[in-house]
Amino acid sequence: AQLSQQSLGRLAKEVALPGYDRSRLARGIVHVGLGAFHRAHQALYTEAVVAQGDLRWGIVGVSLRDPGVADRLAAQDHLYSVTERHGDEARTRIVGVLRDALYAPSHLAQVIRAIADPATTILTSTVTEKGYSQHPASADLDVADAAVRHDLAHPDAPKTTLGVLAAGIRSRPAGAPLTVVCCDNMARNGHSLRKLLVQYAGLFDETLARRIETQIAFPNSMVDRIVPAATPASLAWAAGRLGLRDEAAIVCEPFMQWVIEDCFAGPRPAWEDAGALLTADVRPYQAMKLRLLNGTHSAIAYAGQLCGLESVSDAMADPLVGQFARRLMLEDLRATVAAPAGYDVPAYCHELLRRFENPALAHRTQQIAMDGTQKVPVRWLPALRESLAAGVERPLLERALAGWLHYLARGRSDSGAPLTISDPGAEALIARLRAAADDGDAARAALAHEPVFGSAPWPPAFAARLARHLATLRQGGMAALLAG
Ligand code: NAD
Repeated sequence: AQLSQQSLGRLAKEVALPGYDRSRLARGIVHVGLGAFHRAHQALYTEAVVAQGDLRWGIVGVSLRDPGVADRLAAQDHLYSVTERHGDEARTRIVGVLRDALYAPSHLAQVIRAIADPATTILTSTVTEKGYSQHPASADLDVADAAVRHDLAHPDAPKTTLGVLAAGIRSRPAGAPLTVVCCDNMARNGHSLRKLLVQYAGLFDETLARRIETQIAFPNSMVDRIVPAATPASLAWAAGRLGLRDEAAIVCEPFMQWVIEDCFAGPRPAWEDAGALLTADVRPYQAMKLRLLNGTHSAIAYAGQLCGLESVSDAMADPLVGQFARRLMLEDLRATVAAPAGYDVPAYCHELLRRFENPALAHRTQQIAMDGTQKVPVRWLPALRESLAAGVERPLLERALAGWLHYLARGRSDSGAPLTISDPGAEALIARLRAAADDGDAARAALAHEPVFGSAPWPPAFAARLARHLATLRQGGMAALLAG
């Protein structure tokens, strides 16, 4: 049998159920990007607020790309389970706060109506870093992007995140307050989304652009929870635990953190009652998390892919890669982080490493390795730029960068197994790397690739170190680079 409102009574005893009347839930939130992360993070904070009796905050979920997730959820009355696992410990609950799951290409009118509804006062998004049509190097709207051009020509039949948001906002009654909370891993995510949406709207409706700029709030937010993509094995494991099939089941870690800038245009859920931190300035938290968590994660991903290590916990258990990850975080990256006031950064790092070691999470290095051309400029390059400008070398971070370039250029693991590189933005960089005459040429060609490395020049001595690392990688693979 499958999870649904009807079958809730058949769930295993230890599974916690929504403790409120779902039929009375209003629709106060629209969420765009109905992936695993939203369902295991923002939806859970909101679930806790709703369970305390504030029934305004049912969520209308929107998927722009994937019809499957909407279908799977609809077949289960929008119910799904979240199991938090660390080692042998596990806790499972059913989440009831999702009211709808709409696949935008086939339900566009409904999506626009949901965003336009004045009862909707919050719009959240998790569409991955590349879902905002942002040019990675300039950080402006990528006006050359085919999907953006399509939406500008057909603003009432949009396909992109920005296009759908703009179309919905355009239909909202004047004066209805709206706050847009971007929950993707980008620096200053709220401000970035505001800038991109204003740039986009400005190209076809100046009034709309001004309205977005002046009337809608875009708090920055820092989100944290490791939520691996589901696999047949994780779904089977969840079914065993639930006593029912749940095609949208999530298995993730117990840790969860959300820091949100306290600047809302109108009503919002009391997420602080569910453990979120509302604060005046999120930027130090964002920078700390992007560099220490995501920065180390990316290094683990490429080293892991090259060394044939499938999951983050496998990589952490590997003597060479595990040691590399620890030192990269504790020595190189930590030195570049300005701690939020009163924050215990050593304790934060210690906990991060423990989370990475969690053997109950099959967090695949291949998933984290995706979209490196979007992630590297946010996670590694600011720390590298600042350090080099101050005359400081970052030997581990520089090795991580060389590892990524080698991974792209070679497309095979150290043992020769073909790797799946999933990064639409990487084509031109890969072509440059493969066309290079030698390692020095490859290092220089990569650093001159503006969309990733920006237009400011990189120090020649740094390029020379990168070239030496590329030579070591070519001759002995990642193992040789990390052992050296
Ligand atoms: P996912 O693959 O389950 O979902 C991604 C969602 O984004 C899907 O709904 C997909 O259709 C949509 N999408 C992808 N490309 C898009 C595009 N170009 N335009 C519009 N929509 C697009 O991934 P997830 O685990 O839900 O993670 C999503 C994002 O959440 C991450 O990229 C990251 O920014 C953030 N996040 C994830 C985690 C995690 O552990 N999974 C942790 C922190 C933050």
